[in-house]
Formats: sequence, structure tokens, C-alpha cells
Amino acid sequence: MVTLDSVRAVHLPVSEESTTVTHPFLDLAPLSAGSFAAIEDRVARLLGTGQDVVIMQGEALLPLEGAIRGAAGPGTVALNVITGPYGQTFGNWLRDCGATVHDLAVPFHTAVSAERIRAALAEHPEIDFVSLVHAEAATGNTNPVAAIGEVVRAHGALFYLDAVASVGAEPVLPDAWGVDLCVIGAQKAMGGPAGVSAVSVSERAWARMAANPGAPRRSYLSLLDWKERWIDGGRKALLHAPAQLEMLALQACVERVEAEGLSTVMARHASAAAATRAGALALGGLEPYVYEAKDAAPVATTLRAPSDVDASELVARALASDPALPLAAGGGALAGEMIRVNHYGPDATRGAVQGCLAALGAALAEKGLKADLEAARRAVEDAWVRPAGPGLSDA
Ligand SMILES: *Cc1c(COP(=O)(O)O)cnc(C)c1O
Repeated sequence: MVTLDSVRAVHLPVSEESTTVTHPFLDLAPLSAGSFAAIEDRVARLLGTGQDVVIMQGEALLPLEGAIRGAAGPGTVALNVITGPYGQTFGNWLRDCGATVHDLAVPFHTAVSAERIRAALAEHPEIDFVSLVHAEAATGNTNPVAAIGEVVRAHGALFYLDAVASVGAEPVLPDAWGVDLCVIGAQKAMGGPAGVSAVSVSERAWARMAANPGAPRRSYLSLLDWKERWIDGGRKALLHAPAQLEMLALQACVERVEAEGLSTVMARHASAAAATRAGALALGGLEPYVYEAKDAAPVATTLRAPSDVDASELVARALASDPALPLAAGGGALAGEMIRVNHYGPDATRGAVQGCLAALGAALAEKGLKADLEAARRAVEDAWVRPAGPGLSDA
């Protein structure tokens, strides 16, 4: 195997005719169809799914958009659940496809309940498509997909799920939950590359797309192209040159998750979320943005800044002490009030959580506000060893 060190050591032309130097990122053997299919199978195992899994050659927005444009058209009546910024985007794509869209928006400090979905379906029985985001890294909430899936299946609608931020942080089980189109990306809790992504597709979803005259074909957005030219052909020939480095990174990422154990990776994220929540409450000044712990996503924790403090300024002060901390202010209109602790992937560690709360506490203290750094430190340690289980209150 060619390593970076061996490359650095060989700074000589490889032959008299060429001045090219061997490079580990550039001089790879082509990725075979067999290797590509094996990576798809590994992702399918991670999701516990027997459905077709298509790895698309772009960031997760590619299958997110491709699946909506493939499955929805002028005859579609959609229930679009909005629990954060992605839900808004999906509604816009659905309307752009000509679908009739019923938006169901819930405040970002909570999650949607299966009961609300049941009521919306009862009110509009013609709904035949439901779009939902599982966990929102941007708002820090997570939705009860298992219970929602039962309701959607009983109604018979096609169920589309954005699991980009939940996969690796909490269970994502498209078959058990009746999800017809489940999109994942590796760049959040899996600690992998952002440039390729995957979608599991049920037989029902394939049938819906095949019957949709507006479904993209001969297009980068087309899932049907992959069905007809890749899957139905026995996965022998790729549609175009794959994003080879990203595919290898995805393979390495799944191998690393398997080696650590998916349940261990998920436990790390649950601990990070519980510890951030407990630590922020002990610190004082910062409130969990999501009111109830059961609605808070394991992938990332959002906090509310004190009412007279600008969240983006607080985050900037904290990052000035350590720019590597996984901290951000909320996006758009949330920038003034929301702090995001992005404790995912390699940052789902006690050290990252302790570092974020210490830096936020110091930033609060600089502004003359009370911050009990020692209490926060102890609360993180306690919560990490014994993560709060479902139903336990914050008190
Ligand atoms: C992160 C994320 C994506 C992917 O978007 P990027 O910002 O490009 O990483 C999609 N959906 C959800 C819910 C996400 O959290």
C-alpha cells in the first residue's frame, strides 16, 4: 500500500519520460462495479434493510431532492412535516413538482408526535406522501419515527425520511419502521465523507417512481436511472465514473463504525447529548433549547443563550479560546438566541463536551454573568457514566 510517508520519501520522477510523482489520492486503481456494490451492501447492513440501497455520487441533498422529484408529481398530496430548516426545503421541492402540500410545522423546541400525524392524515385522507426529518442537527430535535411509521403505514402513504443527522447517533431502521425512501449521509454521526450519500428504496417507492411521468430520467437526480441501468442489470456496470475517493472514504467510515460497534457509536452520541444537557443546566445561564430530553437529538445539542446575550457573539468568544471546538450559532434568524454543540462523529466525546461547556462558561463569565464551571464539569462526568434514560427528567 502507498502511504503518504512513502510518497513524501519519493520526490523523484518515476521514469525519464515522466515527471509524475506517485500520489496515494491520485494513482488509485479504478473502483470496480463489484467494490461499489460491496459498499452498498455494507451500508444496507448498517441500516438493517433488505431494500435496494443506492449510493448517490453527491452530498445528501442529491438523493433528498432526487427521491422527492422521483416520487412526487401533480397528482401527489403530501404531508410535509417541518421541525427545522430541511422540512422547509422539502416542501418547496414538493410544490415545485406540482404536488399539493399540507405543511405541518411544529416549534423547533419540540418534536412532532405520532398523534399529530394521525390527526393530519384524518383531516386530509387523500394524502399519499409523508416527508419527515428524523433528527435535525440544526435545531437539535428528534422525531419518534417508529411510532409515526405505524401511523403512516396504516394510512398507506409513501414515507420519505431524512436520516442524515440521525444515522450513527440513534437507531435508523427503514424496514422495521416502514420507511419507503430513507436518505442517509456519512458526514454527521458516522464521522465519514460528505461527498457521497445513500438512499434505501422500497418496492412501493420504485413503483411510484416508475408510474410518475415527471420523474427525472437521464439525469443526475434520477434514482430510476440507477434502478434500470445498475440494479436491474445485476450491478455489473456503473452509470458513470464514481467519486472514487469519496467511495473509499465511505467504505473506511463504515468499517470503522463496524469495528467500534454501531451500538457503541450510538451510546457515545447519547452520552454526549445527555452530558451537554446536564452540563449546561449545572453551568447556569444556558437552557436546553429543546424542552424535553426525549425530544432532544443525540447527534447535536442546542442551547438557548441568556435573553440579553447574543448567541453568535458568545460562540465567537468561546471559539476564540479554542477554534477546534464543535460550536456554532444557530442559522439565520436563530443566530441571536441558539448555540449548537455539534458533538457528533469524532466529537462525540467527553473531552469535546467538557471543552465546549468550559469555553461557553468562560465566555459568560467574561460578560460578567454567573457560570459555575466546576458544577458543569461534574455534571458532564456524572451524565457520561450514567446517561439519562428515556423518561428521566432534567430536574
Ligand atoms: C446535515 C444535514 C443534511 C445534509 O446537509 P449538509 O448541511 O450539507 O451537511 C441533511 N439533512 C439534515 C437533517 C441534516 O442535519
